[in-house]
Parts: sequence; C-alpha cells; structure tokens
Amino acid sequence: MGKFGKSFLGIVTFLVLLALVFSFFLTPAEEPSTISIGALAQKVEGSAVKSIAVSGDTLNVVFTDGSKATSKKETETGIVETMKNYGVSPEALQKVDVSVTDESGARYWAGILLPTVLPILAMILIFWWIFRQAKGGANQAFTFGKVNIKLFSPNRDKVTFKDVAGLKETKEELEEVVDFLKSPKKFLDIGARIPRGVLLMGAPGTGKTLLARAVAGESNVPFFHLSASEFVEMFVGVGASRVRDLFQTAKRAAPSIIFIDEIDAVGRERGAGLGGGHDEREQTLNQILVEMDGFERDSNVIVMAATNRPDVLDAALLRPGRFDRRVVLDLPDIKDREEILKIHAKGKPLGKSVDLKTIAVRTPGFAGADLANLMNEAAILAARNNKKEVSQLDLVNSIEKVMLGPARKSRTISDNEKKITAYHEAGHALVAASLKGADPVHKVSIVSRGMAGGYTLKLPIEERHLKTKTEFLADLAVSFGGFISESVVFKDVSTGSSNDLRQATEMAHRLVTEYGMSEKLGPRTFGKTQDLIFLGRELSSAKDYSEATSGVIDEEVNLFIKKAFDAAKKIITGHKNILDKIAHILMEQETLEQDEFYAIIKSFNLKQVALKA
Ligand code: ADP
Ligand code: MG
Ligand code: ZN
Repeated sequence: MGKFGKSFLGIVTFLVLLALVFSFFLTPAEEPSTISIGALAQKVEGSAVKSIAVSGDTLNVVFTDGSKATSKKETETGIVETMKNYGVSPEALQKVDVSVTDESGARYWAGILLPTVLPILAMILIFWWIFRQAKGGANQAFTFGKVNIKLFSPNRDKVTFKDVAGLKETKEELEEVVDFLKSPKKFLDIGARIPRGVLLMGAPGTGKTLLARAVAGESNVPFFHLSASEFVEMFVGVGASRVRDLFQTAKRAAPSIIFIDEIDAVGRERGAGLGGGHDEREQTLNQILVEMDGFERDSNVIVMAATNRPDVLDAALLRPGRFDRRVVLDLPDIKDREEILKIHAKGKPLGKSVDLKTIAVRTPGFAGADLANLMNEAAILAARNNKKEVSQLDLVNSIEKVMLGPARKSRTISDNEKKITAYHEAGHALVAASLKGADPVHKVSIVSRGMAGGYTLKLPIEERHLKTKTEFLADLAVSFGGFISESVVFKDVSTGSSNDLRQATEMAHRLVTEYGMSEKLGPRTFGKTQDLIFLGRELSSAKDYSEATSGVIDEEVNLFIKKAFDAAKKIITGHKNILDKIAHILMEQETLEQDEFYAIIKSFNLKQVALKA
C-alpha cells in the first residue's frame, strides 16, 4: 500500500472512532421513555412516583413499579413549584423523593463541549497529521530554501596534494589558487584579477572531488561542498534560493571555497532542449551566474566545480569572470596508476610477492577510483581467506572483479586496441614533428580521454589569432596522421579516426568558404551564416552562390584534403622506423611528455619539411 493509501486509511479510522465517542457521550445506553410534565404531575398525584432526580431541566423519574422515564421542566421554575402549578397537592409531593444534582457535572460539560470543541480539535489534529506526513515523506517539503551544505572543516580528515597521485600539471595549476587563498593581499596589492571559478573536467573517478578537497586542505579554508543535483529537488524556485544561501554562507566564512559537484546537472546549455528548457534548472543556473558576477573584486571566495560532461555546459558559465579557469584531469597512465595504488596500499600490509608495477601495467583505462576500489577488494579477499597480508594473487584476482563493474566495461582497453591506439597517436605526433608550421607536440598519450582512444596534444607556441594557409595545411596533415599510420601498419583502419576526419573536413571547408584560401575561387566567402549573437553560435547558413560554384567548392575542399593527406602519407611511409619506435614506447609507458618525445625525434635526426601551400 502506498503512503497516500496508508494515511487515507488512518484518517478514516480516526473519523470512525470520533463518531463512536460522540455517540457514547450523547446517547445513553438505554433510552427511558419520555413523558410530558403534565402526565408526570398526574402520576405524582396518584402516588405512582418513587423519586425524581433533577439535573438542570431534565427530570429522571423512577416509578414505584421500578420503571423509569424522563421529562423536562421549564428552566426558570423549580420542580416543587412546577408540580404545584400543575395542581399537585403538597402531601402527594412529599411522598416523592426529590433530589437535585448539580448541573456542573462532567456530563453537562461534555454535552456542551463535545459537539463544539471536538470537531475543531479533530480538524487541528488531522491537519497536523497531514503536515507531518508531508514533511517526513516528501523530501522535507517544509524546509526548502535551506541547503544542506556539507562543510568539510579543513582540520578534520584533511586531504592534501600528497594524497593525490599523478595529475602533476593539474596540481601545478591549482597551486596558484591555493596561493591566492593563503595570501590574497599579495595578489590584490598588485591589482591582479583573482581567479573566481575553477572548473575541473575529467572522467568519473579521476579525482575531481578529491582534488577540490585537497585545495581546501592545502589552503586551510572552509570548504562548502554541494552536489548540483541537490539544487533542483522539488519546487520551482528552490534551486535559486539554495544558491543564494550557499553563496551567502560562503561569503560570511571567507576566505572559503564553494565546490559544486556535477555541475552539468544544472549547467547544461540553456534553451538547447527542444520543447523548452527546464525552468527550474535555468533559474538555478542564472542564480549561480548572478552570484558569481556579484562577487566584489576582493571577496576571497573561490568557486570550484566539477563535471565529466564539459561539452554540454552552457557557454555563459565559461565566460571570463566565471569558470574561466579550466583544468583537465586525465586518466592515469602506468606510472600514475602505480602511485595511486601505493597511496591506497597505505594501512594494508602487502606481502613480499606484491609488485604494484605489474598491476599498473594490467589496468589500462582504470581511473583513480577504480584503483582505490581494486586495493580494497584485494584486502577484502585476503581477509576472507584469513590472511594477514595482501598477496599479488589477491590483487590480480581483484582486477577482474573491478573490471566487471558496470562503469568499467566501456573503458578498458585490450592489448590489440592498445597497439592500434599507439600507432594512431604516433602517426599524429610524427607528422606534427616533421612539418614546419605545425604546432609542437606537447604530450602524446594512449590513455583514453573522452571519446577518442588517445590523444596527441599540440599546443601553439604562442597564443595566436591569425593562422596562415601553410599552418592550416600542416594542421590538416597532422589530423590525417592517425588514419594513415593505422592503414600503413595494419593494412586496415579503425573507427578511432572518425573525429579526426570530421575535423579535417570541416577545416578544409572553412579554408575554402570562409578564409578565401582557394586560388581557384578567389578571395570571397561562401554561405551567409546568420550569427544569432545572443546565443553566440551559428544557427543557419543560407546559400549565396550557384549550384555550379557549389561543385567547385567541393573540388577545392577535396584538393586541400588530398594535398595534406599525401604529405602526411609521405612522412609516415618514409619514417616507419621512427613511427615504430614512438609506438613501442607508447605501449610501454602510455604517455610521452614533450621532452621525451623530442628526444626520440632528435635521436633519428628528423628534418622538418615545409608543406607548400
Ligand atoms: P570524481 O569526483 O572525479 O568522480 P573522486 O574524486 O570522487 O572522483 O575519486 C574517487 C576516489 O578515487 C577518491 O576518493 C580516491 O580515493 C580515488 N582517487 C581518484 N583519483 C586519485 C588520485 N589521483 N590519487 C589518489 N586517489 C585517487
Ligand atoms: Mg566527484
Ligand atoms: Zn586521431
């Protein structure tokens, strides 16, 4: 039976009981007959009455034969006088035992109070009951507005950067935030704009929450932790008032950190859903934006947020002054995995057989949380077998257990996949290193990040807004590097290149239609895009050229693609030995930092070539 059914049954039972109480008080158990006062007078005169008990206006009569009756007299006159008025002789009256009971008896009051007070009382009771039910059952409906902000005091179970393995670059970026929280004056005196929002992006279990707590622990400030889904609970408007609450509390405790976990729950792009957005979410998001804008320049509150879906976030959240600092948390590579395992091995006695490095090698694609889980499972396994130490076998057996977990399946990489990914990424990196004008390789990794199997991170040497045609062509060639490498090495290609190919096609298309870089078509643009400024993105594009031109555009796009593709293919087939080397090292250690990568390139004496535009 549902909650509603139960309470309904309760109310009905209560009403029935109430009716019973009423009937008990108001109707006597056996109903004596009623006689008129005149008839009573005659009986008295005829000496048939034994006693009369007067209670208010009611006369309870007992006859000499033992039978009973009631009667009523007028209120003002006494019983004796009434009898006299009806012509009863004093002698006859004397034979009757007349008693007067006090009217203030319980029954009298009950008679008056029950019909008036009891219904009111019952109503109050029922209302109170309904309120209590609603409160207990439906998510504290009557305490809305107040957030249950979780405050991690910096002193209790303190987390520091030492407890976070790997993520070196991420930690370096966050050190600045810590520095600011520790000594804001230093920054304010020099007029520096303070970071206001830091967005942590990474796959589930990569340590976003952990890192946010570590920032709080390092800087020794209060840390207000809230999951975004808690904003949007029940009633419209609650989310916004919760946000206000949260920010107010944090400002009072400044310097402090607000941490909004899983911000994508409210921070999704507004107006993106067909059929209207979710009002409540939008209001909550708006309130977050308002609060973040409302910070005074010197308010020492830093807002941190975490998400594993940065792609769906509303652009407004990412504008300067809001979450303008974005930090990516990668899945750990072999080295980091070993370190994470070491951290979680603390307090668990390990046997001599244990080799964490081997475990790290066998767990590609595992996030920090999976590794923590793995350690724990191994300890449980050991304890179940009444052992005092965790053995290597316990660890190995736990790998499978963790792998079978629901979250894991999609992320684990087989050896074969690992090899394909290694060659794919090596292809990108090799082409990038060989071409003049291509951005230098910053990092190569086969640890999956999001959709792609691995990634080759290229960073422009300096922030650039202008890009030349040569550079575009080099970029285009680099994006084909993965595809070509796969096809050259395995004589086959995988789905891992779909993203690269789409990007390349779009880039080539822009070269022709937006930047006027096609010689045949000349310096003009094709297609009128209507920028709806307030939404900040292209919505529609109208054709402003003929069908014939359309064909030429396609030809030109294909020409650029072919040029870049051929250049990349030449590089890869010409330097297969370098490709093999990079791929093998990648399979071994999963990531290559910039200096490691260029050391390999240098050892082969690779010369950069220019891709003629
Ligand atoms: P996320 O918030 O990114 O989903 P969490 O921060 O909640 O992940 O991580 C879950 C757990 O995994 C942490 O409590 C920690 O025990 C472990 N963990 C994750 N990443 C690391 C890491 N880099 N170093 C140490 N432990 C980690
Ligand atoms: Mg988390
Ligand atoms: Zn690729």
